[in-house]
Amino acid sequence: MRNPSAPGAPVLRPTAAVERLKQYQPPLGGRTGLRLDFNENTAGCSPRVLARLRSLTAEDLSKYPEREPIEAAVAQWLGLEPAQVLLTNGVDEGIHLLAETFLAPGSEAVIVVPTFSMYEIYAAATGAQVVRVQAGRDFEFPLARLVESITRATRLIAIANPNNPTGTVATREALLSVADAAPQAALLIDEAYFDFFGESVADEINRRTNLFVARTFSKAYGMAGLRVGVLAGPAPLMMFLRRAASPYNVNGVALACLPEAIADQEYVSQYVTAVRHGRARLEAELRALGLRYWKSAGNFVLVRVGAAREAFVARMRQHGILVRDRNNDPGCAGCVRITVGVGEQADTLISALRAVMADLGDALEVFA
Ligand code: PMP
Repeated sequence: MRNPSAPGAPVLRPTAAVERLKQYQPPLGGRTGLRLDFNENTAGCSPRVLARLRSLTAEDLSKYPEREPIEAAVAQWLGLEPAQVLLTNGVDEGIHLLAETFLAPGSEAVIVVPTFSMYEIYAAATGAQVVRVQAGRDFEFPLARLVESITRATRLIAIANPNNPTGTVATREALLSVADAAPQAALLIDEAYFDFFGESVADEINRRTNLFVARTFSKAYGMAGLRVGVLAGPAPLMMFLRRAASPYNVNGVALACLPEAIADQEYVSQYVTAVRHGRARLEAELRALGLRYWKSAGNFVLVRVGAAREAFVARMRQHGILVRDRNNDPGCAGCVRITVGVGEQADTLISALRAVMADLGDALEVFA
């Protein structure tokens, strides 16, 4: 056997693209308190989902999961054909599969920043070049600049609508004109926050050759820990995504629970109504406190607190509330993102906000 430490011995290295990746480490540790930091459902999933979960047997867990029957039911629920729909291990996996299927060194992926981090990570991991198009000053969708950035090498364009962390939206016309401007590229419209917004371009999948839409059960449905999402797109291309995916990508527990989650629409719509109410209350309070925020179509609000944002996040934590520092996102200097709580959580949030504002006073960026 060769001595691995001998001079000149081959050394195992990651690909150049993976070696260049920045580490993305969401702050998952020590999340005790009211968790308004990850845009999760703050009330939990439907009781029907929990009941199904509790009914699972050892036999259920010993079997490899069978995705297809549930996938067909989800397709029908979405008004699509089974061949147009793939269940994924969260939207994350849908993004990963699109990157694997369409990107390679020499191709380009276009994203609008600030946005969800995983687009850039999965795209860059393939060796493709990532082209970042900055949103407007108030995070307006930069349609003209986005279209200008499309080249013959563009193979993937990823847009979150509503966008995270800004909560802003692009119009349907704008999104469809991007699809038309880049027939050589997959256009992903990531509708992770669809339930809180209510508008979708999924109905256009039948009329386009390059439009993909992602949905998740991590947000409004309260199942982030189960890891299940949906990717929908043109059947002939979905076939290739299926080839790149594991046949067991979605676990059996998630597959068992999914039909219950979908059946309990009443639960989801009640939660969405409560979030919209909580969002309006939070926005009103931010106005009263004189803090700059951007009108959000999601279950979260981006707020500019200025240079004192670290102190703000720390003080909120002292009040038992976790919020997320977004200062390092492009165009988000001094910003924090606050997930909207429901019912009493909104009261807790508002009283903590008032106390922290009184504490920090002039250190915060007040516009009133
Ligand atoms: N897309 C966006 C825009 C998100 O904000 C998130 C979660 N932060 C995701 C996708 C990930 O969703 P999932 O849990 O389904 O992987």
